[in-house]
Amino acid sequence: MSHPSVPREKLMRKCRQKAVEDKEATDMEDLFSEKETHKIRVSLLDWYDENQRDLPWRKRYSEDEKEKRAYEVWVSEIMLQQTRVQTVMEYYKRWMHKWPTIYDLAQASLEEVNEMWAGLGYYRRARFLLEGAKMVVEGKDGFPNQASSLMKVKGIGEYTAGAIASIAFNEVVPVVDGNVIRVLARLKAISANPKDRLTIKNFWKLAAQLVDPSRPGDFNQSLMELGATLCSVSKPSCSSCPVSSQCRAYSLFQENETNPVTDYPTKVVKAKPRSDFCCVCVLEILNQERNQSGGRFVLLKRPEEGLLAGLWEFPSVILDEEADSETRRDAIDVYLKETFHVEPKKTCTVVSRKELGEFVHIFTHIRRKIYVELLVLQLTEGDTDDDLFKDEAKENLTWKCVDSDVLSTMGLTSAVRKVYSMVEAHKQGLSVVAKVSSNRTAVSRKRRIS
Ligand code: SF4
Repeated sequence: MSHPSVPREKLMRKCRQKAVEDKEATDMEDLFSEKETHKIRVSLLDWYDENQRDLPWRKRYSEDEKEKRAYEVWVSEIMLQQTRVQTVMEYYKRWMHKWPTIYDLAQASLEEVNEMWAGLGYYRRARFLLEGAKMVVEGKDGFPNQASSLMKVKGIGEYTAGAIASIAFNEVVPVVDGNVIRVLARLKAISANPKDRLTIKNFWKLAAQLVDPSRPGDFNQSLMELGATLCSVSKPSCSSCPVSSQCRAYSLFQENETNPVTDYPTKVVKAKPRSDFCCVCVLEILNQERNQSGGRFVLLKRPEEGLLAGLWEFPSVILDEEADSETRRDAIDVYLKETFHVEPKKTCTVVSRKELGEFVHIFTHIRRKIYVELLVLQLTEGDTDDDLFKDEAKENLTWKCVDSDVLSTMGLTSAVRKVYSMVEAHKQGLSVVAKVSSNRTAVSRKRRIS
């Protein structure tokens, strides 16, 4: 039996929603006046010409080097989505030294790219960068030079497309990132939720209105630069700001000092990351002829999809809840039994087994407590590393055994490097710092490949 009123109601609701969206999208009161637009463009560009930071990806290029410039903007923008400018500079220089053009990058392996990216986090972006480079090089039309066509390349979203198109190819398109949202929200005193879809749409509209048609790339960079320097999150320097006379938030503050400009944009409470627990077992294998300091470490490759896809790690087991050391050891034992021929007295001898400590690592949406133990085994005479894995595991897992020299130069995630540094500290007789707090920015850089 049909219910004619239901689809009609649905349709009406849709129409009303669309009318609201259209109104919000075309409400001219929300836009800058022509005079404001002109003043903001001139003031920001003058300020940018005088004050822009000297960054390695801001070189000037001739007309026929636009593609090179586009590649550099692309790499730098993807890296800048990961971390701060200071950190990116070092990564960027090493990257460009190894792969100076998109054609060089397209020849690289994922392993090499992950190595280069190690410590930056969000490894999926590095993979997309590689896949995108291959797409462009294998395509027949060269480097896409418009935002709309750039967005068809793997890993290039609206923001990156706008940055490449405006900076490298002079297309008059806007960019909206966190810095731009902060500046626009303050210029217009916008208190709506900056994560809301319609508010974001509005920011794009405002940025599109402001972008200077004669110097779109420089203008976009000036807006981002203002957000990254003077119009900072917590300590904006309004008295030195080139657009303070057009800034609504600043004028509200001058009228009433209890309304700080930092009220804009509205702070959105982040969802709490879920917690889990991970037992890492660093498996060191000694052969008969090797002494205890010269073992090889077992590394497993993560699946090609999902968190930290395709990256190497030590054997580990994820637990849903906090567990005591006995339960953790049991979980590791079951895992080792299912995956490896770890059968003391039969296939190997347990030389030592020691808990080295624990630390917390924060992924975007996961707070992971990591327990680390070192299990040193000696293989039975005549056995090789290959004999360690069960036949089913050999088919389903990608693994390798590497010595400490190789391990030290591999591109490992910051959490895996932290685990290995605990092993090294233990071997050097240093006390391992238990309960070390960690996050993506607190990464030890000393083991990065140069
Ligand atoms: S006046 Fe202050 S709040 Fe307004 S844009 Fe400039 S630095 Fe930001």
